[in-house]
Amino acid sequence: MDQKHVCVVGAGISGLRCADVLLSHGFKVTIIEARNRIGGRICQSEGLGYTVDIGPNWIHAWSDSGEPHPIYKLAMDTKTPLHHWNNKQLIFDSDGNKLPDELTERLSTILWEIIEEAFNFSKAAHEKNGGKDIASTDSLQDFIRRRAQDIVSDAKERALLVQMSEMFGAYVGQPVWQQSLRFAWMEECCGGEEMFVSSNYSSILALAAKPALTSATIHLNTRVVGITSHPAASPTSRQLVTVTTDHGQTMSFDEVVVTAPLGWLKKNHSTLFDPPLPPRIRSAISNLSLSQLEKVFFNFPSAFWKTGLPNEDDFPCYTNWLSPTYSASTNPSKWPQEIWDLSSFAQPNRHATILFYLYGDCTRHIVNMINGQTPAEKHRLLDDFFRPYYSLLPGYDAENPNCTPQAILATEWFKDDLCGNASYCNFQVGVEEADKDVLAFREGCVERRLWFCGEHAAPFDECGTVAGAYLSGESVGRRIVDLYKSES
Ligand SMILES: Cc1cc2nc3c(=O)[nH]c(=O)nc-3n(C[C@H](O)[C@H](O)[C@H](O)COP(=O)(O)OP(=O)(O)OC[C@H]3O[C@@H](n4cnc5c(N)ncnc54)[C@H](O)[C@@H]3O)c2cc1C
Repeated sequence: MDQKHVCVVGAGISGLRCADVLLSHGFKVTIIEARNRIGGRICQSEGLGYTVDIGPNWIHAWSDSGEPHPIYKLAMDTKTPLHHWNNKQLIFDSDGNKLPDELTERLSTILWEIIEEAFNFSKAAHEKNGGKDIASTDSLQDFIRRRAQDIVSDAKERALLVQMSEMFGAYVGQPVWQQSLRFAWMEECCGGEEMFVSSNYSSILALAAKPALTSATIHLNTRVVGITSHPAASPTSRQLVTVTTDHGQTMSFDEVVVTAPLGWLKKNHSTLFDPPLPPRIRSAISNLSLSQLEKVFFNFPSAFWKTGLPNEDDFPCYTNWLSPTYSASTNPSKWPQEIWDLSSFAQPNRHATILFYLYGDCTRHIVNMINGQTPAEKHRLLDDFFRPYYSLLPGYDAENPNCTPQAILATEWFKDDLCGNASYCNFQVGVEEADKDVLAFREGCVERRLWFCGEHAAPFDECGTVAGAYLSGESVGRRIVDLYKSES
C-alpha cells in the first residue's frame, strides 16, 4: 500500500491521539493548528507566579467498564501527582451563615443519592425507548425537586437541598435546571472517584503529543478555512480532500480529521465545508449545547482559613455559598459560588490558593467585566466581586495582609474563538436525541473521507472530558487504519 496522507485539523488531545494511532500504522500525518501551541483546551498559565492549568484539572480513574481511564494511565506513566480530596464540605446559606456540619453532611448525602437515582432513571428510560418517556423539557433539577418532596419532610431543609443542587452547574458548565433529565445518563458525574492534578497537565500532554511531535508535520499558527470533499465517482476511484488555510495554501489529503470544537463548528461549518455537511451532522451541530465554565484562582500570602487548625488537612476541600443575598451590589442575580481549597495539596504543589468555578450566566458576566481591562483593573474587579465570599472563610480579618490576595487569575475561554467561546458540549433541556447527535459526529462522512473527533464525539458518558476527546481521536484513527486494511 502506498503511504496514505491524513490531515488532522487541530492539535488538541483528540487530534494528537488520532495522529499517534495513524503514525503507528505507517500513515503520513499533517496536523494543522490555528494556535501557536499544541494542547487546545489543555493549557497552563504562570499568572499566579507558579504553573496552573487554566483548562482541565480533573481526572477520572476508572471507566464504567472497569478499565482504567487512558488519561489516568498517562498520569501514572508521567508520575503526575494526583490529589484525593477529603470529601468535607463547608456550606454557607443565603444569608452567609455557616450550615451546621451535621445538616451539610446529611443533605449532601441525600442530594448525591437523588442524583445517582436520576442518572439510573435516565439510563433505564434510555434503554427502554430512547428516553421518550421523559419529556425533553424535564430537567435534572425537576427530578431533584420531586424526590426531595418525597424524602425531605422539613420545608426549610428541602429548600436548602434544592439550592445545594445548583453545585451540579460546575460539573456541566450550565445551571442544573438546564440539564436535560432525558440525557443525564450521558454526564459522567457518578462514575467513581475523581482526582485533581495537583501539579498540572503539561507532562500528560507532552507524553500524548510525543509521537506527533516526533513524526508528524505540524503547521502552527495556521487556520483551516475551507475543506472540499466529494464522494468518489465509483467504488474503485479515489477523490482527494482539499484543505485551504488562512495563509492561502491549498493541500490535498487522502483523509481529513476535523477536531475543531463544537462551538467553532457552530459558527463556521456553513463556510468551512464544500459541499455543505449532510443534514444529520448539521442538525447535530445545532442540537448539541455548549457549556460555559471558567476558573478564577485567588492566591494569598498564607492559607488564613486554616490558621490555628490542629490538622490543616481537615479543612473542607469544598466550600459553597448558596444563592447569596448579601452581595447584591456585585451579584444581584444571587449566583451561587464555590471553591476548592488548593492549599491542601502535598508539597511541592501546596500553595495558599482557592479556586472558584463559575458557570452559565455568571461566567459571561465575569468575563465581560474583565475582558480587555488592565491587569490591575482586573485584579480590583475580581477582588470586589469575590471578597464577599472568601471573607466569610474562618480566620478572615480585613486588616491582616495575609487575607488580601497577592495574585488573581481568571480564565476567559468565553472570549476564545478557537474553543468556540465555550468550555465543552453538554446536554440541555430541549434536546431530543443527544445520543444520536453524538453518534452522527462519530460516524462522520466516510464516503467523503471526512471524519470528526473531539470531546463532542466521545464515548457517551465521556463527552466533554479529556479522556473522551482522547478516546474519540483513538477511535477515528483506528477506523481509518481499518478502512485501508479492508481496501487493500
Ligand atoms: C475551563 C475548563 C475546564 C475543564 N475541566 C476539565 C476537567 O477537569 N477534566 C476533563 O476531563 N475535562 C475538562 N475540560 C474539558 C477538556 O478540556 C476538553 O474536553 C478537551 O481538552 C477537548 O479536547 P479536544 O481535542 O476535543 O479539543 P481542543 O483541545 O479544543 O482541540 C481542538 C484544537 O483545534 C484547534 N482549531 C480550532 N479551529 C481550527 C481551525 N479552523 N484550524 C486549525 N485548528 C483549529 C484549536 O485551536 C484546538 O487546539 C475542561 C475544559 C475547560 C475549558
